[in-house]
Amino acid sequence: MMLLTRKMIEIRNILQAVGQSNTLSLPSIVVIGSQSSGKSSVLEAIVGHEFLPKGFNMVTRRPIELTLINTSKGQTEYGEFPALGLGRITDFSQIQRTLTDLNLAVPERDCVSDDPIRLNIYSPNVPDLSLIDLPGYIQVAGRDQPPQLKQKISDLCDKYIQAPNIILAISAADVDLANSTALRASRRVDPRGERTIGVITKMDLIDPERGCKILSDQKYPLRLGYVGVVSRIPQTTALFSRSTGNITSAILKNEQAFFSAHPVEFGPESDVSVGVATLRKKLMTVLEQTMAYNLSGTRDAISQELEEATYEFKVQYNDRPLSAESYLAESLDSFKHSFKAFAEDFGRPQVREMLKNELDQRVMDILAQRYWNKPIEDLTPPMPEPDPLSDLPKADPESQYWHRKLDASTSALTKLGIGRMATTVVANALQSHVEHLLASSTFASHPYAQAQIVDATNSILNDRFFSTSDQVENCIKPYKYEIEVEDPEWAKARDNIGKVLKDELRACEGALKRVEESIGKRKLNDVMSFIEKVRKGEVVLEGDGLGGAGGFSAALLKRGREGVFLRDRAAIIKMRLLAVRSKQCSNKKNKYYCPEVFLDVVADKLTSTAVLFLNVELLSEFYYNFPRELDMRLGRHLSEAEVEKFAREDPRIRRHLDVIKKKELLELALQKIESIRQLDGRNLHKKSER
Ligand code: GDP
Repeated sequence: MMLLTRKMIEIRNILQAVGQSNTLSLPSIVVIGSQSSGKSSVLEAIVGHEFLPKGFNMVTRRPIELTLINTSKGQTEYGEFPALGLGRITDFSQIQRTLTDLNLAVPERDCVSDDPIRLNIYSPNVPDLSLIDLPGYIQVAGRDQPPQLKQKISDLCDKYIQAPNIILAISAADVDLANSTALRASRRVDPRGERTIGVITKMDLIDPERGCKILSDQKYPLRLGYVGVVSRIPQTTALFSRSTGNITSAILKNEQAFFSAHPVEFGPESDVSVGVATLRKKLMTVLEQTMAYNLSGTRDAISQELEEATYEFKVQYNDRPLSAESYLAESLDSFKHSFKAFAEDFGRPQVREMLKNELDQRVMDILAQRYWNKPIEDLTPPMPEPDPLSDLPKADPESQYWHRKLDASTSALTKLGIGRMATTVVANALQSHVEHLLASSTFASHPYAQAQIVDATNSILNDRFFSTSDQVENCIKPYKYEIEVEDPEWAKARDNIGKVLKDELRACEGALKRVEESIGKRKLNDVMSFIEKVRKGEVVLEGDGLGGAGGFSAALLKRGREGVFLRDRAAIIKMRLLAVRSKQCSNKKNKYYCPEVFLDVVADKLTSTAVLFLNVELLSEFYYNFPRELDMRLGRHLSEAEVEKFAREDPRIRRHLDVIKKKELLELALQKIESIRQLDGRNLHKKSER
């Protein structure tokens, strides 16, 4: 018999998982009553435990959706808040504390909230039942309660007592029924009294004869009738109950003692209903009948909703199946695929080019430092010294001065920490390529996966960094002592450094133009010629020039110095370019005249050797380990919940998954409803046969 309620509770849980939808709510029993009418006592008598918040002030601020589930004999009783994930709670005073906390969490200014607290209670002593406990009506707001509280509670109750819900209207026997707020509210929405059950509490407080009259009330007739109860928890039991657990039998005994003491009024011969046990049975029957009555309506609502979900799935998502796991797997596959494509295009030649470009820059720096620089940073006149530039072409090849100069330059290049530099350049390139791939992948909208991938990159590169850099450094060691140059190497270097110088010249001229544009050609010329004069010692600078000098501001002087530097550098590079291209530099014997070419030969040798080891130690290792590391971090090791969380980070995917889930759940609910209908049909059939 009670199978229907249980199945409907199952269906309701499924529908709850679909999400808030008013059309899909199944009929419930909603419990209303004014404060102190004995509402909590009735609910606790049905459940068999004290679990509701108590206190002088109103503490019920949210509806409690109470689902009772009958379990088999001997099972432990426990409660569960499905939305909180606290697990099974066997201590009912803890349930009471949790409910109090949840109620207190509603902000004072909101007074009440219509977001229900879901609480399931599993016990062999409860019937399968679902009830919604609402905040008790108050007559006047207390001193520390907001004035609009009364109205807000009443509005909240009105929302819940609409059809097809059953109203359990609680009134105390010692208050005139005409004054019962619960019955007044129910009459407003159920004027013919078709779906209201009247509960009269505190029957022990009035004269039995009067009590009997109330229960057979003719003034406010209810189709489902009235039930009188004595649901106060006996004082001794309240203490006792904590150890034994269930208080039902104590209440029933107490109640029984009262009603059986007045057999004329409440005995089997009288036609009034009394007792918590009677009330329980009535609730079960009424709920079951209401659910059965609403079955086809519920079915229609579900299939309508299912139709909409199916349509959305077809139109928006082209019936494309999707699961969080498949989404992750596909995203990972396509990322690995794009990485593979990158890896095929980024090998030795590309690393070589990158590294050589980097070394070209270092060569330019060293040349500037050792051969070309004119002191310019400060404005004091320079010490007279031979100008390497003008002297270089006529240098005596036997002069120790030029030998030392070239040796020092070469050594600056070979000892600059090639291992570290080369490894850094390649590691940085790999990092930025991975970031680039990430930005154009599905993972772009998944912060967690992104962090994992970046971290995987760094950890592999960090692991390899020191050994790679040591290896490279070791292998270039011979070049620190001796460098042999072949003719073809010289020719290639001469060609290359010519291009580098040309690029450098263009960069210098471009930068000079930008300075010129920013302050004006004329002004720049003025300030530059002032700086020239200072350099030649024709003008004496007061102070250090930081606060401005010669009528120029400090900022202008700075721009002027930049201008002079760039102009000088451009002139030098032009001159060196001519030198490199001259006949003199076509022969490797003249290396002292042509340090640019010689350093380029060295840079080229360093590059070739470094690339050889970088390729084996860093690139190949990275290309091998990276996809495996991704599998580890984003494949096997993620829990189902993590995969789900990952997929739902992308709003588009979340909507897609939601539609699928909704469709599946609605299909399941519909299937269950159909099976109930079939069962119901068979029962009807059997009944008619009898
Ligand atoms: P609520 O505010 O409507 O939830 O009311 P409670 O269940 O907290 O009850 C209010 C007061 O009435 C408490 O002191 C209860 O002990 C008492 N009470 C509840 N039911 C009965 C009853 O049947 N008989 C008597 N004498 N007192 C009751």
